[in-house]
Amino acid sequence: MSFKFDLETIPEDTGLFIEQTEKRETLGIDQPGCALVEDIELTGNLSRLGRDVFFKGQVKTGLRQECSRCLELFDTPVEVSLSTCFLPQPEDAPPEEKELHASDIEVEYYRENTIDLAQPVFDQILLTQPLNPLCRPDCKGLCAQCGVNLNLDSCQCESDESRIDPRLAVLEKLKGKIK
Ligand SMILES: [Zn+2]
Ligand SMILES: [Zn+2]
Repeated sequence: MSFKFDLETIPEDTGLFIEQTEKRETLGIDQPGCALVEDIELTGNLSRLGRDVFFKGQVKTGLRQECSRCLELFDTPVEVSLSTCFLPQPEDAPPEEKELHASDIEVEYYRENTIDLAQPVFDQILLTQPLNPLCRPDCKGLCAQCGVNLNLDSCQCESDESRIDPRLAVLEKLKGKIK
């Protein structure tokens, strides 16, 4: 099994209903701070008009990421929708020259009758994640001075004096003089 489909297997009248699960290794999302921890469930429909193919569906999986504040690994369920248009690769255009379309529908070019959903699925899983992922919205992060994880522990550095920005401290003092 893979994310590949042959154009000829997509009926023009009804389209092709897809409901399948792929091993999480299939996409190669396996970095220490960003890895799939669940298999990839793909559901949706491939429809076809001549040689233009359109996919609309859902991707479900689970992603392990590193928290951008406390650097702990955490898992989040991923459930994203996907709309991709597949056009036959023009003979004279190099494959990397993608046309920009004025819509949020991704356009892919295919060769040799092979519709491959792997790249759009890969993109959609990663592009829908926040740039600075957080293990929880109120993650306290690490102490900037001693590095302790403030979600799990407290430290002695946590006095008001040390947390205040030095520039603000100057302002505070000046404010006192004005009064
Ligand atoms: Zn965190
Ligand atoms: Zn500390």
